[in-house]
Amino acid sequence: MGIKANITDINSNICIAKVRYHRTKDVIKLIVVSKTRTVNEINKAYQTGLSHFGENYCQEAVDKIKIIDNPSIKWHFIGPIQSNKTKQIANYFDWVHTIDRIKIAQRLNDARPENSPPMNVCVQINISGETSKSGIKLQEVNDFIEEIKHLKKLKLRGLMALPSLSNDFNTQKKSFAKIRLCLEKLKKTMPELDTLSIGTSQDMEAAIAEGATMLRIGTAIFGSRNKNI
Ligand SMILES: *Cc1c(COP(=O)(O)O)cnc(C)c1O
Repeated sequence: MGIKANITDINSNICIAKVRYHRTKDVIKLIVVSKTRTVNEINKAYQTGLSHFGENYCQEAVDKIKIIDNPSIKWHFIGPIQSNKTKQIANYFDWVHTIDRIKIAQRLNDARPENSPPMNVCVQINISGETSKSGIKLQEVNDFIEEIKHLKKLKLRGLMALPSLSNDFNTQKKSFAKIRLCLEKLKKTMPELDTLSIGTSQDMEAAIAEGATMLRIGTAIFGSRNKNI
């Protein structure tokens, strides 16, 4: 199937899931994960009406962003962040989903151009325990947020997590429930938090069931990636 047909399919699955989980009033944004994809593929997805794109590798992304040169596209950085890449990320992206170190948050804040709006950021949570090195533990979230919330050029929007490794719906749902609960607690003192970035091609339905406001979908749109990432 082509990109356009895949996107039609995904949109209809999102609609069905929104009805099933009583979320018809909510906006759930589809982020097209375009790592390893060509400029041509990105433009095809854009032409279907999608304008939020997610990239994992800074250099690859910046090269494509410059060529595509489309101010209507919002670029989301969703990969691990190396300190020497913070300047480029701060210059070329609208969102960063993978904040899990104070030092990186500070560098992004300091490198954000004065005339750009604050960078939208999510704190990455490690919900899968030891299996992944990135993301902070749920019990560390409060302290972490205290340290980054004064950074003027960052706008904290919510939480993000990678998929649980399981293919089982109930296991996925249980693991997403933890981050949902965490966000709900944070919202009591920070009602402006509006983003739960969970859900990929393999666990979109469980994510919608547990309150996702942003889905990050690659494979289901473009087919499987050649590189093992
Ligand atoms: C690659 C990636 C995705 C997309 O995963 P698919 O299975 O291709 O939909 C989502 N989030 C992150 C952080 C990724 O690295």
